Amino acid sequence: MINIAILGSTGSIGTSTLDVIARQTERFRAFALTAHSNVERLYEQCLRVIPDIAVMVDESSATELRERLKNNPKTQTIQVLHGSKALDEVASHKQVDYVMAAIVGAAGLRSSMAAAYSGKRILLANKESLVMSGALFMQAVKDNGATLLPIDSEHNAIFQSMPEKLNAVSANTAEYTDGQSSNLDAYGVEKILLTASGGPFLNKDLTQLQDVTPDQACAHPTWEMGRKISVDSATMMNKGLEVIEASWLFNASADDIQVVIHPQSVIHSMVAYSDGSVLAQLGNPDMRTPIAHALAWPKRMPSGVAPLDIFKIAQLNFQEPDFERFICLKLAYDALRIGGTAPAILNAANEIAVAAFLQEQIGFTQIAEIVQQTIEGVNAVPADSLDNILNADLEARKFSQMLCQSNLTA
Ligand code: NAD
Ligand code: MG
Repeated sequence: MINIAILGSTGSIGTSTLDVIARQTERFRAFALTAHSNVERLYEQCLRVIPDIAVMVDESSATELRERLKNNPKTQTIQVLHGSKALDEVASHKQVDYVMAAIVGAAGLRSSMAAAYSGKRILLANKESLVMSGALFMQAVKDNGATLLPIDSEHNAIFQSMPEKLNAVSANTAEYTDGQSSNLDAYGVEKILLTASGGPFLNKDLTQLQDVTPDQACAHPTWEMGRKISVDSATMMNKGLEVIEASWLFNASADDIQVVIHPQSVIHSMVAYSDGSVLAQLGNPDMRTPIAHALAWPKRMPSGVAPLDIFKIAQLNFQEPDFERFICLKLAYDALRIGGTAPAILNAANEIAVAAFLQEQIGFTQIAEIVQQTIEGVNAVPADSLDNILNADLEARKFSQMLCQSNLTA
């Protein structure tokens, strides 16, 4: 039996993970479930899967959950922990085999790291931890014999389209890049073609972008996701973070990665080789496919995803991204080229700006402005220690918070 810790089990990825493992209960078991403060949903999940441990980051939510679980004879055995340290505890718990890292944002960094340091199979959805601390994270994976499998659909697709590289990553022999150099040549790889849907505003009049609402930004045409990543998809910051994520996972430089807008979201990414071959992974846009792939790897298992009906799709379209429309995508490429803590600064500023946008404190087009000004205003330093990275994160948060605030009072 494989024990899984699902970090962020109440979220979109967490819920899909529970759905996939419910189809294979003889093989997989949810050993630990964690959430920030959604007591209702975590309670309901606990009732369904009876994990050994449930973590609520928020203390008063933990107290409430503990009470409810105690009052039900079926759930009395479940241990309830609280605080963010408890996330690290379950991520490194000796009974845990696989860690699904599906917390949103920088809040997932420490627990993803804890999983790497304890040599787990890491199913990585929390791209922000790689964006912030790629070098340290990859080194920790390598040094501790962890196995890193990408859940992000594009990276999972690239992984599947790079069989030789796949072995290198899983065997922890990958060499790591600083965003400037790459070793893709050794695998005959010419380019990574990272696909993007283009989000809900791909064809919207640029002059109308400043007036879009959070609900419009979250109405993604092809994927159903949490609100933060949905806004990131609308600005294409999500793709920018994914470019950085790919650079670490596949030891690729910024120039090796071409973003391709593909509105149908059927091709989840491609890899172009020196002999002219282009390998791609296709499927319906449903995260249960990459989740099942990473759970079963190197084998395959059913995921519950409907088979792809290529006759119904009939047509696949591609276009180049426009950096004037998608300023955040350009800012992410810039941050990758700057290196050091620049991606952590970009990520922190983006988290603050997106939260402010979701709370209707700033307009949609101000997200990019705030990120840009923060990158200009906060100096990047080498990302060679967790302290440096967390300091950069904090400094960027303060800086961008100040920008949001001055907007409010303006
Ligand atoms: P979500 O908002 O639906 O869920 C987030 C989860 O994280 C919840 O369980 C929440 O309780 C937990 N959480 C939030 N803040 C926390 C904190 N401070 N401390 C501890 N836990 C906290 O998000 P999601 O869409 O499932 O995305 C999760 C991650 O997966 C993100 O990094 C996202 O970029 C990545 N991802 C998501 C998708 C998708 O389809 N949803 C696809 C690719 C990658
Ligand atoms: Mg993705």
